[in-house]
Amino acid sequence: MKKKSSIFTWVAVVILTVLLVVVMATLLSNQNKPKDISYFGADGIMQKIENGEVDSIYIEGNYAYVLKKGSDINKKHFPKRADYRAVVDARFLEYFKEIQTGEIDLPDGVAVPTLTLANPSSNSAWTSLIIPAVGLILLLVLFFVMYRQSASANGKALSFGKTKARLNTNVKVRFSDVAGAEEEKEELQEIVEFLKNPKKFSDLGARVPKGVLLVGPPGTGKTLFAKAVAGEANVSFFSISGSDFVEMFVGTGAARVRDLFDQAKKNMPCIIFIDEIDAVGRQRGAGLGGGNDEREQTLNQLLVQMDGFEQNDGIIIMAATNRADILDPALMRPGRFDRQIYVSAPDVKGREAIFKVHARNKPLAPDVSFKILARMTSGFTGADIENLLNEASILAVRSNRKVIVMEDILEGINKVIAGPQKKSRIVTETDKRITAYHEGGHAIVAKVLPNCDEVQEVSIIPRGMAAGYTLTRPETDDSHITKNKLLDTITMMLGGRAAEQIIIHDVSTGASNDIERASGIARKMVTEWGMSEKIGNMFLGGGHEVFVGKDYATQRDNSEEMSNLIDSEVKRILDECYAKALKILEEKRSVLDNMVKILFEKDTIYTDEVEMLFDGASTESIIEFIDKRNGKKDMYKKNDISAHIVDEKTGEQANAGESANSDAEKAEPSSSAEENSGVSQSEGNDIQQ
Ligand code: ADP
Ligand code: MG
Ligand code: ZN
Repeated sequence: MKKKSSIFTWVAVVILTVLLVVVMATLLSNQNKPKDISYFGADGIMQKIENGEVDSIYIEGNYAYVLKKGSDINKKHFPKRADYRAVVDARFLEYFKEIQTGEIDLPDGVAVPTLTLANPSSNSAWTSLIIPAVGLILLLVLFFVMYRQSASANGKALSFGKTKARLNTNVKVRFSDVAGAEEEKEELQEIVEFLKNPKKFSDLGARVPKGVLLVGPPGTGKTLFAKAVAGEANVSFFSISGSDFVEMFVGTGAARVRDLFDQAKKNMPCIIFIDEIDAVGRQRGAGLGGGNDEREQTLNQLLVQMDGFEQNDGIIIMAATNRADILDPALMRPGRFDRQIYVSAPDVKGREAIFKVHARNKPLAPDVSFKILARMTSGFTGADIENLLNEASILAVRSNRKVIVMEDILEGINKVIAGPQKKSRIVTETDKRITAYHEGGHAIVAKVLPNCDEVQEVSIIPRGMAAGYTLTRPETDDSHITKNKLLDTITMMLGGRAAEQIIIHDVSTGASNDIERASGIARKMVTEWGMSEKIGNMFLGGGHEVFVGKDYATQRDNSEEMSNLIDSEVKRILDECYAKALKILEEKRSVLDNMVKILFEKDTIYTDEVEMLFDGASTESIIEFIDKRNGKKDMYKKNDISAHIVDEKTGEQANAGESANSDAEKAEPSSSAEENSGVSQSEGNDIQQ
């Protein structure tokens, strides 16, 4: 489509250029040749006639064209080409009549020139009209094409002040597409009721919110919620992103806001949805270095427009942001975004529901358990879950399976956390050895310490930017983290470097990310969480955020003395944790060696193998165990294993003929090796940079 129209443009341009050249050429040859003369004087036409120099005269329109006697111009071309040209007037016509009738005698031997009066409908008149007309039409066509092109290229060229909002009059999304988040749904239900039946509310004098602000981290379904409200209420849905208002042309933002509201008023009842409103809604006067006038004008216009329509008109403005704290307080005044709904990342139940929604149309193997997956994905948002299920289906297709198996989904989870595995990256023996000890160090420290999350997966396959990784999974969605847990986490992070120190008696650069993150936690413990005895419960972290260009910088304002104390406390925490990691690894040296042996053989080990290592199982028996499990995975390549689709209504597996598949029986995560191989995003993830 795009290609076609650009070819069309090119053809048009070429034709037009050729035509213009032709038209110009004929015009030039027509007009430049004749010399303009008058009637009187030594050089006038009258004198020339009386001198016998004139052969023919041709009168067309306002001009008389003159051909000389013995002219260079071939008579055939006359009057297209002529020697002289004069503006016609009545006196001349009179004079000429008189020579023709003999009332005026020409000198002897001088013949009367032939005179032709052009027929108004003659050919030459036609052609002289046709060429400019065709040119004009072609020009118009070209203009039209250019307009269409620029209009389709985001409508930039000719629609500065027009809103870029997309209008959807038939939104298909319903609340049932948004899983979990029951409280949020309840709050929004009221808005739906109002949009469906505004009169009912206004009759009772009820005040309905004008604006609803959805606040929450990215990917939690804010956009989805806004659509669902429009879908449930069956009203038009204008959506625009905050950044669409702000552009390089001064004044366009404000004009766009005005246009948006004009459009909306023509489409009542409707929802206006402003995504990422922080782009325009940032606190006025908060920037460094100016240049915010345009944005402020836009914001002012938005406020004016929001005040400009009545509460019960049938327009609801919804907006989404993940930074409500930086929004201008004026936006939150009554009569504007007077209702705020916090959309949080889903809990275990919510995640399970989201898995079910997104697995609706995917064929799943009987071993897939959403309960277990939901527990493994602490911290994942709806967008993450959608993404990982999509990755899982791609993996299943790639390995020629007809159904998605648990392994695919687990790999999908890993991909979302850490990027795809890079099996083909060439790794030297030395690198591999360092990586194996490093990751083994993390895993063993994590396993020994009581407050660390469970070790899910240890691998020396490069993934994303990491050379290897250790993934841990939290058992709960706890949002409070204790001091002891933080200390154990730091110790675990330093476990990688400690292992290198013990085994190779040297340290590598591979631990830089560990060190950065461990230091970050230690510093926050001291400055923000009041976890250092020496400093006590004093908040030192904040400073204030300053908006610099695109980002925020934090300015700290502690005294020199205090800064030194903070640094020494941070160092003390890190040193103590490192010493602890060294001690643990020295005690578990034989487990570490065995783990490295297995990692060299199999690249990746999971919870069960770590468990077996600590129970003192031999490396041979563990390798055998891994082989057995890998055999099971290939089973689903056979076509006769029936796929089953999760039933839309209940979310339960529709043809769960095999009783072993029911969620209830899978509730215990350690009942099968494969189910446990999951990972999750957690403080304990170790991705080496
Ligand atoms: P946000 O606007 O908060 O950044 P989106 O609404 O764009 O997030 O969500 C992105 C995608 O994630 C949605 O298209 C949807 O597929 C999925 N998603 C997010 N939250 C949920 C949820 N609660 N239920 C189902 N899907 C969800
Ligand atoms: Mg969004
Ligand atoms: Zn590490």
